[in-house]
Amino acid sequence: MNDIFATLESEVRSYSRTWPTVFDRAGGSYLYDEDGTGYLDFFAGAGALNYGHNNPLLKRKLIEYIERDGVTHGLDQSTVAKRAFLETFRDNVLEPRGLNYKVQFPGPTGTNSVESALKLVRKITGRESIISFTNAFHGMTLGSLSVTGNSMKRGGAGIPLVHATPMPYDDYFDGQVPDFLYFEKMLEDSGSGLNEPAAVIVETLQGEGGINSSRPAWLRGLYELCQKHGMLMIVDDVQMGCGRTGPFFSFEEAGIQPDIVCLSKSIGGYGLPLALTLIKPEHDVWEPGEHNGTFRGNNPAFVTATEALKQYWADDSLEKSTIAKGERVGEVLEELAAKYGAVAKGRGLARGLGFEDTDVAGKVSKAAFDRKLLVETSGPSSEVIKIMPPLTVSDDELEQGLQIIRDSVHSVLA
Ligand code: PMP
Repeated sequence: MNDIFATLESEVRSYSRTWPTVFDRAGGSYLYDEDGTGYLDFFAGAGALNYGHNNPLLKRKLIEYIERDGVTHGLDQSTVAKRAFLETFRDNVLEPRGLNYKVQFPGPTGTNSVESALKLVRKITGRESIISFTNAFHGMTLGSLSVTGNSMKRGGAGIPLVHATPMPYDDYFDGQVPDFLYFEKMLEDSGSGLNEPAAVIVETLQGEGGINSSRPAWLRGLYELCQKHGMLMIVDDVQMGCGRTGPFFSFEEAGIQPDIVCLSKSIGGYGLPLALTLIKPEHDVWEPGEHNGTFRGNNPAFVTATEALKQYWADDSLEKSTIAKGERVGEVLEELAAKYGAVAKGRGLARGLGFEDTDVAGKVSKAAFDRKLLVETSGPSSEVIKIMPPLTVSDDELEQGLQIIRDSVHSVLA
């Protein structure tokens, strides 16, 4: 079967992650292949499935909506489903956190949100250049690629746009250089070519870049630097938002309010495409039609997104359980790190184990697949095993997955 897929002409070769089986059904923390074999999924759609596969609570609402012939394709028309989403987002997410944002639907996916943010900051400030960070990942369209750090991700096709400059991410120099020393020097040096940047775009925890977690103090420092130099701050929370690190927004711990926030992946709740760009009200300078696109009104996704916010974000229980489960994963990763000279990384349920030998993580991922666990790799040389179960993973499933990770690392390194 897999050979057939490998030779199907429709299967282009631009995607790197192919598990050697053919999946058919999915439920909760499991994917099942066509033979009915279950795989624990600690990849969770690269952060798109925080509430698990085919979450029954969300599925019920989706079926009801489809059965009553609710609007499917709404473009940017006002619909009941969109209104319910906006109200629930305000009531369950923004207001309890004291945040005030206008919501833009920039297109179906994360990269659409990043593109709209990059365009908007230029329009607001009248400045052109954008600061990104080493090892960042922001998506595959040309603007997003220009602020993506890993040149491998750009391939031969993604020539960076001019006016996009990478700066060192937190701990890039292993604590040997004071935070922002280089960045600030470049900003103050009129000959550096940085000019006056319009904005910085930052992930609080780099998922694709190798599970690199920035410290709240570093983020606060960045926020202050932005204010000092008239730069706007875009937080790309496409992968780490919707509770992946614990709180709904991954920047909450730092106590900052970014000017613009990009959200996608798990905001749709059910694995359906939906993206938001959150904009501080004073920055909404869009003219009608300036950033549009056909699939901005995914109403079935509004339905599942609304239900996810009602079920999981009416209180802080998901945040607490994610932090507790994440600490358990962290314990096991620390144990493995000490035993095998690896590095335990991440926070919440965005965790990783990094190896100096860049072949190891790929081998561990394969060994885990053989033991019926899906874990992917990340980092510039794919040197980190990335552990991102659904946030709804049960304690038993978590322990099973962790045991497989232990056994897999052991089988590769012992
Ligand atoms: N930003 C971040 C931080 C991401 O992790 C991703 C996807 N991995 C994107 C943007 C792009 O999102 P999409 O693939 O939905 O376009």
